[in-house]
Amino acid sequence: MSSIESNLQHVRAGIDGAIAGLPPDARQPVTLVAVSKTQPAEAVREAFAAGQRAFGENYAQEGAAKAAALADLKPRGIEWHFIGPLQSNKAGLVARHFDWVHSVERAKIAEALSRLRERDPINVCVQVNVSGEASKSGVGVDEAPAFAAACARLPGLRLRGLMAIVEKTPDEATLRRQFRIMRELFVALRASGLSVDTLSMGMSQDYRAAIEEGATLVRVGSAIFGART
Ligand SMILES: *Cc1c(COP(=O)(O)O)cnc(C)c1O
Repeated sequence: MSSIESNLQHVRAGIDGAIAGLPPDARQPVTLVAVSKTQPAEAVREAFAAGQRAFGENYAQEGAAKAAALADLKPRGIEWHFIGPLQSNKAGLVARHFDWVHSVERAKIAEALSRLRERDPINVCVQVNVSGEASKSGVGVDEAPAFAAACARLPGLRLRGLMAIVEKTPDEATLRRQFRIMRELFVALRASGLSVDTLSMGMSQDYRAAIEEGATLVRVGSAIFGART
């Protein structure tokens, strides 16, 4: 077995274990997005052969090139998730090659994506800067509900939910608090009538904790592909 294949098995077992640890009424399916940024197309092909279907990329050009190189996997079900900061001048590239954008945080980008995908709406999440760090992208927690509602009204977007990158901290309590704020925001969106189904949070270091706090989608890179160089 290749290391990618065995790493994938390990991560899937970690996800299943975290779900199994939840109270029965809180258990829900969790989607694994394998973050393949900086990895060669061949590594993606290997993960695909091991049954992985959803892949995440941070850089528009790199992701578009990989999606093009692996176009033969498209009819076989590969799915591309854009998870990095998105500039307006890259919206066309992303709209052409990706199935999802997790990092929608500005009206201008949301409107551009919507125009580009008017006939085939693209799945989006609103990125929330839950830690409030200046270095992080995302709308503020307080602005998230109105911005999400505005995205839901755009014809070329299919609003799926929320995404966050929590603070990189060894402090478990801080981490959990940020995951919980996201969960509350997600529950509030649903209560407001938006039919969202995705709470995208958790990476290699913290995906189990994220699932315990309500993540429905985790984005895992190095635990699958190894350390990035
Ligand atoms: C790189 C990245 C990940 C994956 O990080 P790992 O620590 O390698 O699992 C997840 N989400 C985003 C937005 C990323 O940029």
